[in-house]
Amino acid sequence: MPYPIDETHDPNLESWLESANDPNTDFPIQNLPFVDYEPADQSISDPLIDDFAGPLGVVIGDQVLDINKVFDAGLLEGLLAYEDDSGATDIDYWLHAVNGLASAPSGFRHELRQQLSRLLRKGTDADTKQLRDWMTPVAECRFDAPSIRDYTDFYASLYHATNVGSMFRPDNPLLPNYKHIPIGYHGRASSIVPSGTPVRRPIGQQAPAEDGGMPNFGPCKMLDYEMEMGAIIARGNELGESISITDAEDHILGLCILNDWSARDLQKWEYQPLGPFLAKNFASTVSPYIVTMEALAPFRCPAFERDAKDPQPLPYMDSDANRKAGGFDITLEVHLSTKQMRDKGIDPVRISKGNFKDMYWTFAQMVAHHTVNGCNLQPGDLLGSGTVSGTARDARGSLLELTWDGDPFANPPVLVPGTQRTPLKMPTGEERKFLQDGDEVIMKAYCERDGFRRIGFGECRGVIEPARSV
Ligand code: MN
Repeated sequence: MPYPIDETHDPNLESWLESANDPNTDFPIQNLPFVDYEPADQSISDPLIDDFAGPLGVVIGDQVLDINKVFDAGLLEGLLAYEDDSGATDIDYWLHAVNGLASAPSGFRHELRQQLSRLLRKGTDADTKQLRDWMTPVAECRFDAPSIRDYTDFYASLYHATNVGSMFRPDNPLLPNYKHIPIGYHGRASSIVPSGTPVRRPIGQQAPAEDGGMPNFGPCKMLDYEMEMGAIIARGNELGESISITDAEDHILGLCILNDWSARDLQKWEYQPLGPFLAKNFASTVSPYIVTMEALAPFRCPAFERDAKDPQPLPYMDSDANRKAGGFDITLEVHLSTKQMRDKGIDPVRISKGNFKDMYWTFAQMVAHHTVNGCNLQPGDLLGSGTVSGTARDARGSLLELTWDGDPFANPPVLVPGTQRTPLKMPTGEERKFLQDGDEVIMKAYCERDGFRRIGFGECRGVIEPARSV
């Protein structure tokens, strides 16, 4: 099921572009993530009409290479094998942006990676001076989120689900369906923003202080982040058809970092009976670098090993390949910087470090489950994994869990026996239970394995802006 490890993953490969050989770069020649980008000097002054997608770039070291320029110059000849006999080729469409590439056949994407790797490696026959001319420094580019049509967010971490469940429903933390179906809800694609976009504190209704009373209304007081991974869907399925677990990974283009910002006080009041709504749809931030399934091949790991007492997944979500290598070994870090810290020149502090291999459900299982009823996925759709939390305290992927429901307004206080509220202490002496205005959340993700080159996902950032006045 996963892509094979091949010459593009060779740890000894180096690029003629020196910055790609820096041991600290997220983007060595073994990675080659795709982006929708725009050189900053071309930016349009009115952000409302600035709805761009593409051109498609590939990131190498500290540069972005314009793939269309490389193709137009005839340097990606291997792709022509995918040209339609009728002459109605889709190659221009596939190369125009990330969601175009998502609709290409998986063989085309595999070939594109091979060809880019050969052009960018040391010793290539290609004219490297010309290739340099088609590059723009990452620092001078503006990146967009891929054009995402539909967004579904899952809840695939057993540890996260148990933590949150024990705060929201102390008597009944894990509902009986959890180990049988990947729980999810349909999110909102219109409010997905690229890394670096400020996030305005949402306004909304919060639970009444007393049962039966009037709800509170105003700016969210329990604003949180959720550290997740996002999967960008490649080719979809016809309405009424499903995607089998065996084929599921062919339908994923690659992964990015996803911050599913969450208004916990809005969530507590609204989530029953139909699930999250305004607590989640005011903003979701993605990192722009789509790290492909091919690049991730060396970092696959077994799916979550279920407890002997746990039910096994139904056959449509089970396969040998998924059990052996359905997971991803990806380290995830969350860093926090307050305005006061930035004013004083203090670096962001790391507040958590988890791993994606701790997820109870794999992305392949989520794809198989999402489509088993005939729901059609489409190229460029985003699936969120759900908050990634582990067993250790510092592996919890949200503030709700890290500070254990630092809810100063709960009445009666929601506390699980044996737990205590533990606000984060910042280097300035400030305390955090939830996010304050001016706080910046910075998420990072990377893969490391002995015998392979480290690759990374870049960063996913956002600063909290004050709520609009009510
Ligand atoms: Mn979420």
